[in-house]
Amino acid sequence: MQILDGKELSNTVRSDLKKKISSLNTKRAPTLAVVLIGDDPASSLYVKRKQAACKEVGIHSIFYKKEKTFTETELLSLISHLNNDESVDGILVQFPLPLSIDPKKVSEAIDPSKDVDGFHPINLGKLVLNDPTGFVPCTPLGIQYLFAHYAIQTEGKEVVMIGRSSIVGKPLALLLMQNTRSGNATVTLLHSRSVDIEQHTKKADILIAATGKAQWIKKEMVKPGAVIIDVGINRLPGGKVVGDVDFEKVAPIASYITPVPGGIGPLTIAMLLKNTFLAYSQHV
Ligand code: NDP
Repeated sequence: MQILDGKELSNTVRSDLKKKISSLNTKRAPTLAVVLIGDDPASSLYVKRKQAACKEVGIHSIFYKKEKTFTETELLSLISHLNNDESVDGILVQFPLPLSIDPKKVSEAIDPSKDVDGFHPINLGKLVLNDPTGFVPCTPLGIQYLFAHYAIQTEGKEVVMIGRSSIVGKPLALLLMQNTRSGNATVTLLHSRSVDIEQHTKKADILIAATGKAQWIKKEMVKPGAVIIDVGINRLPGGKVVGDVDFEKVAPIASYITPVPGGIGPLTIAMLLKNTFLAYSQHV
């Protein structure tokens, strides 16, 4: 069994980017605008990590911290301002938003060329159409990057993806089924209404869990030798952070497995930096 070390790989991505950015011969640094509304502790922590990562590699980040009373109209107007600001390459609005704000309207308002999260319908549409000019959401992109780095082949493999969100499950399933060298998998997408989950997971050469339910993927549900990708981030009573997979029991029978923390989380942030640099390269 080999641990897929997302933290180490993300350090490599960051130091490569840092080198690239420090050798740029242009007037302004790549710039990311980060919008946080309200005071959800998890969101505040994620934003802090993203900003620290930006700083480390030389991406300028501008932070807009707004009270939870910030309205949808005010947010859409801020996004419009950022869309028109030529010094801003990427716009990130941290989700989840207060219930009074429609996340769909927010994703649609961001200029697709600054949509470094890859949530805009145009970018998701490009993913469906296998058009490489769009931004791909950071978590699926990170997993694809991880597979490439560890030479994990997906072609012809049975991939079982648990979770169908628009930011993880669906875009990742699309990436893996594309007719490309990093795709060509046979993908089964499971969700909370799927029946007999175990019957599917036991067939998986590559099992990916993104459900947000702590440690429920047990050894009995996994085919020996499978590659296990755990996207889930769950906080147990007492504060310990765990994934969706029962790591201790599953790891010994897996061929590769991502830890939580230290797996997909750091890679997701690294891909945000990559997407921001890509946006910058297209803007200057
Ligand atoms: P969502 O809540 O949007 O989606 C969860 C998905 O899991 C849904 O499709 C849901 O089904 C499905 N699901 C829930 N319970 C079960 C079950 N018992 N059996 C089968 N399917 C189930 O979450 P996200 O996709 O946004 O995130 C998923 C997890 O990944 C979370 O823990 C989140 O914190 C983490 N995450 C981690 C990231 C990272 O950087 N490591 C980045 C993004 C997310 P249904 O659609 O039917 O409700």
